[in-house]
Amino acid sequence: MQDTQPKSIYLKDYQPPHFVIEETHLRFDLFEEYSQVDSRLVMRRNHQQHAGYTGPLVLVGQQLELLSIKVDGELLTADEYQVEDDSLTINTVADDFILEISTRIEPQNNTALEGLYKSGGMFCTQCEAEGFRRITYYLDRPDVMSIFTTEVIADASKYPILLSNGNAVQRETFASGRHSVTWHDPHKKPCYLFALVAGSLLVKEDTFKTMSGRTVDLQIFVEPQNIDKTDYAMDALKRSMKWDEEKYGREYDLDIFMIVAVDDFNMGAMENKGLNIFNSSCVLANPQTATDSAYQRIEAIVAHEYFHNWSGNRVTCRDWFQLSLKEGFTVYRDAQFTADMNSATVKRIEDAALMRTVQFAEDAGPMAHPVQPDSFIEISNFYTVTIYEKGCEVVGMINKLLGDEGFRKGSDLYFDRHDGQAVTINEFVSAMEDANNLSLTQFKRWYKSAGTPIVDVVSQYDDVAKTYTLNFKQSCAEPFLIPIELGLLGESGQDLELVMDENTSSKGDSFNGGIFQLTEKEQTLVFTGIEKEPVPSLLRDFSAPIKLNYDYSRDQLLFLLQYDSDGFNCWDAGQKLALDVIYEVMSQQQANLPLMVDPRLLTAYGSLLQRDDLDHAMLAKMLILPSISYIAETQEEIDIHAINQARTHVQTILADALAADLEILYKRLNITQGYLPEPGQMAQRGLKNAALSYLLKATSGDYKALAVNQFENNDNMTDSMAALASLVNSNHSLEARSALDSFYQQWKAEPLVVNQWLAVQAGSAEYGHVENIQKLLSHEAFDIKNPNKVRSVIGTFAGQSLVNFHAEDGSGYQLLADNIISLNTLNPQIASRLVAPLSKWRRYVDQQGQQMKQQLQRIMAQPALSKDVYEVVSKSLSL
Ligand SMILES: [Zn+2]
Repeated sequence: MQDTQPKSIYLKDYQPPHFVIEETHLRFDLFEEYSQVDSRLVMRRNHQQHAGYTGPLVLVGQQLELLSIKVDGELLTADEYQVEDDSLTINTVADDFILEISTRIEPQNNTALEGLYKSGGMFCTQCEAEGFRRITYYLDRPDVMSIFTTEVIADASKYPILLSNGNAVQRETFASGRHSVTWHDPHKKPCYLFALVAGSLLVKEDTFKTMSGRTVDLQIFVEPQNIDKTDYAMDALKRSMKWDEEKYGREYDLDIFMIVAVDDFNMGAMENKGLNIFNSSCVLANPQTATDSAYQRIEAIVAHEYFHNWSGNRVTCRDWFQLSLKEGFTVYRDAQFTADMNSATVKRIEDAALMRTVQFAEDAGPMAHPVQPDSFIEISNFYTVTIYEKGCEVVGMINKLLGDEGFRKGSDLYFDRHDGQAVTINEFVSAMEDANNLSLTQFKRWYKSAGTPIVDVVSQYDDVAKTYTLNFKQSCAEPFLIPIELGLLGESGQDLELVMDENTSSKGDSFNGGIFQLTEKEQTLVFTGIEKEPVPSLLRDFSAPIKLNYDYSRDQLLFLLQYDSDGFNCWDAGQKLALDVIYEVMSQQQANLPLMVDPRLLTAYGSLLQRDDLDHAMLAKMLILPSISYIAETQEEIDIHAINQARTHVQTILADALAADLEILYKRLNITQGYLPEPGQMAQRGLKNAALSYLLKATSGDYKALAVNQFENNDNMTDSMAALASLVNSNHSLEARSALDSFYQQWKAEPLVVNQWLAVQAGSAEYGHVENIQKLLSHEAFDIKNPNKVRSVIGTFAGQSLVNFHAEDGSGYQLLADNIISLNTLNPQIASRLVAPLSKWRRYVDQQGQQMKQQLQRIMAQPALSKDVYEVVSKSLSL
């Protein structure tokens, strides 16, 4: 245990800053052995918010070597300031003053990848959330916004490209072989949006004409070998800029917009003002090296970071408890963009599946927190699915409640009212309320409470009165406002017209346009004129992030699967049916009974293949059984092996039953056409490859030749990787081994492809066993200092190769803990994110739960535990 336990900080302790930084002038002198940072800050006391405050100036800083401090040109002596581990205190300052500080840092030794560091031969930065304090002493908090001017100086031959935020205003070359570029950003910003890049980079250039007719230069900087992988990101950027103008009326505000790709990066990408820095895996693609899902990820992340220019940069967060203000809203905006560019239903299914699998699990575990948390130890631990995805769902519910037009009025008011400010979630909701002249007081509970609300629904049909009654009960002591979109299906599958009985329903006015607003602990809806008992379609479009229980019969689910006009519920009916059948097989396993799969499931999935009203992307989704993680999430006590055994049994029976039809489908879709990363082709490849992966699970017939043939003859990574994965995930070990070897030989010079090669093994039930993971960790292609490689091997193993991670002897847990311990000193952020799979130990069957707990205790006993790891491990172990 450490001597002093890291402390929590609380939202209730928030105070406005005591000082304002009007201007920030930075000068970076970059060298191989060290870098010197000179800052010149034009400062004044914040009399507006702290009248009469005469106390000292306290700046934060970490791992800095302080060279000198000057106030108004006078060098300070040692008795005029104090340096502590994380802070610098200057005892006496005037009302207005100029502060000059010189520090020395070692970017080349910075493995935490926060602040200024080196990735390959390039200098780059990551300052969100609290990285800037590793660059210089500063008021490193988002509500201190300043005008930045930055001069970057480096060796001209090694670092010909020198970038920072804003516009380049001056360039100089020195006789020493060094050169400098000065950048000026006219927009006030907090230091978490500061960025700097220096390297030998090539640039892909284009332009965009904004809605007011200005021309913006667009530049994507990459290492020379990647210049052929920038077309798609550029295309996605231009589409994002246009979409934000049309959908939200938001225009870009600088003359230049730059993206830089770096290999070593803790996050996906970062929205620094005018200079986005991207993990190379989220920006680089060409058909030979990137799969369709990589293309889709790039489109979404380029859009997300671009949209932050308004939702995050122009209007930013007051403090880090408001992180979801920018993230929840921006994830919602990028989800809308993706839905507009591709299939809206499929996007909704993917987002709902992520919520139900990962976010619900987080909300039920030791790290559960509200969308607006009230305390944290290390803010890096709060870049979570709750802040991002649940935050997005909450914004989406506001849109459902206000309608599209009302929501746009609200967002316009929010941007206009708060442009240039650092604000709170409350101010976002107020703008929505004020623009629509209504109150969202009860709704705000979604921001303040952790946990997933449960709604139980029962129905009753009155054959004589021809009424149909739905009774809703919500689990929460203080009821939430829950928008529940619903419909009733008549006997031929049509949507019935919904007429409410105003007298017997508890709130006649709360049902509008298919959306019922559940506001009380218990409420009843009575529909009249219902000639025959209907089938209810509840929580259409996943209209709220809740668990809704209704006791459907299998026949009702089959009916919804066939007829529901709501695409999300149509998919979900198939999932519920499969889940129910898998549960039944699990209980047969437990009772040592012969395993029987309800033939209705086979008929239902078989009939999907005959339907022509489903597009390819939707059908591909509908064929996939609920994931092991999702099934686990629905269990009181999790036994991964029992789940896996039952799911595998059902999958094999399905594969055998459908093999002939799947083969026809596969062959029909397997046509050669020039690869394009466009939705129609992607959907076709997705469905074809879903069919292939099923075929390789069949026990009858021999389909491995299809996979081998596809692996050897294709013109794109999507088909190549899908064929490889289908071999690696079936029991054709000879073919799989040889494909893995030849794949590596072909692609070993392309790190992003090698990461996929690592991940396809690490996530496989066949190849992701502990001994093989150890081999991958010592493979020449692995590097524990590179977060993408850590995610590819260790993250994928613990997150996807569940039967191996939960190996009976506990070796999977031990492997994960060993790596968390190694990463704790190298890169605490990445180490901490790997703890999640162990943190849910209480949910697992006894022996496994105890083994997981022991590994957490072993981590806890390490000396010098980082704040990041300490917070997650200690919360996992305490009650
Ligand atoms: Zn973001």
